Amino acid sequence: MPGTELFGNEERKEINDVLETGMLFRYNHDQQRNGIWKARDFEAEVRKITGAKYAHAVSNGSAAIAIAMAASGLGAGDEVIVPPFTFIASVEAVLFIGAIPVFAEIDETLCLSAEGIKKAITPKTKGICLVHMCGTMADMDGIMAVAKEHNLILVEDAGQAFGASYKGTSVGLFGKAGSFSFDFFKIATAGEGGVFITNDEEIYKLADAYSDHGHNHVGNNRGMEQHPVLGFNYRISELHAAVGVAQTRKVPHIREVNRKYKKMLTDILSQTEGISFSELTDPAGDSATFLNILMPDTEIAKQTVDELNKAGIGGFNYWYLNMYHFINQWDHLKNMKTASPLTAQVLGMPQDYNNLHLPKSQEVVGRLISFVIRCTWTEEEVKSLANNIAACAKKAMPVHA
Ligand SMILES: *Cc1c(COP(=O)(O)O)cnc(C)c1O
Repeated sequence: MPGTELFGNEERKEINDVLETGMLFRYNHDQQRNGIWKARDFEAEVRKITGAKYAHAVSNGSAAIAIAMAASGLGAGDEVIVPPFTFIASVEAVLFIGAIPVFAEIDETLCLSAEGIKKAITPKTKGICLVHMCGTMADMDGIMAVAKEHNLILVEDAGQAFGASYKGTSVGLFGKAGSFSFDFFKIATAGEGGVFITNDEEIYKLADAYSDHGHNHVGNNRGMEQHPVLGFNYRISELHAAVGVAQTRKVPHIREVNRKYKKMLTDILSQTEGISFSELTDPAGDSATFLNILMPDTEIAKQTVDELNKAGIGGFNYWYLNMYHFINQWDHLKNMKTASPLTAQVLGMPQDYNNLHLPKSQEVVGRLISFVIRCTWTEEEVKSLANNIAACAKKAMPVHA
């Protein structure tokens, strides 16, 4: 993935700043740290790219989405609408804040659709965990209208879409709060890390305290700080934040190169019979981490995957069969296999996860193949990949009588 492709001197320099002082903790110790505040710098870089008023770095993207939801007011017994196509962390986060995931349909945007959300609303629905999948963004105009009409709390898991925007506004800023992941597989990596963003000062303060045992982070005597709420430990270390600083600075470059390569791939492949693309709700705001192609149906997509494997072409994901990104393989969720009982299990679930009717999501994910775009490719490599994909798709297409 892009961030890991560009790991080098810039990251080493930021890490060394921390190693020089030995101050691995993000708070306090003003004298010993000698002016080095990497978590704060990381947050400043994320604010710069997103335009968010507030950003708060935490241990990972899973924590960031859970914190975003809790700080936005979602909790025990609330029904929260989620997509069946996401990294499972979004659904786990709903469960672990005590809320109840309710699955709704996605569409060709690869994200929950306004229509799908509307159909899943019940009197108990309190919020939406909207996931911007595969580097792209959801239909925000449609979804905002539904959220407003039904007075729902919208929270955005933009774990895979850092750097993406819709009509000029960064993903993560449409609802009450949003989150990004900086794990090893994202557009930028901190090794492990996540960032929560919001424009709401109250939500930010709550999230800041919640992510560190309730500390209000006022003053310079940690043991005597006030604790407005109970919280937990979701802190990021200065070493991880240091990597995040250097990587986040590279995102505008990565995004520019990726957009150019995605356009080259799209131009070539749009000539190929049978290949279409996921719907971009705002092409100018695409983070371009993936080229998402849609084949005519699931069978042809599976055939195409077989042909790609036979030809030794890697660097793609067929999410339909992936264990962590699509509901069909989530047996542990369907049967609620948990370490200890969760609130949702005690209260009872409104949906039978073993008998969900989500034909549109099944169709779209069945047809979808996502190719990782690399900013370190040469133009020759891009063209060659496009031609290889076209050849495999052609072989997979049924022969006309
Ligand atoms: C990666 C990802 C997460 C989880 O992030 P981690 O940093 O790995 O905890 C959450 N949601 C989505 C959509 C993701 O892609």
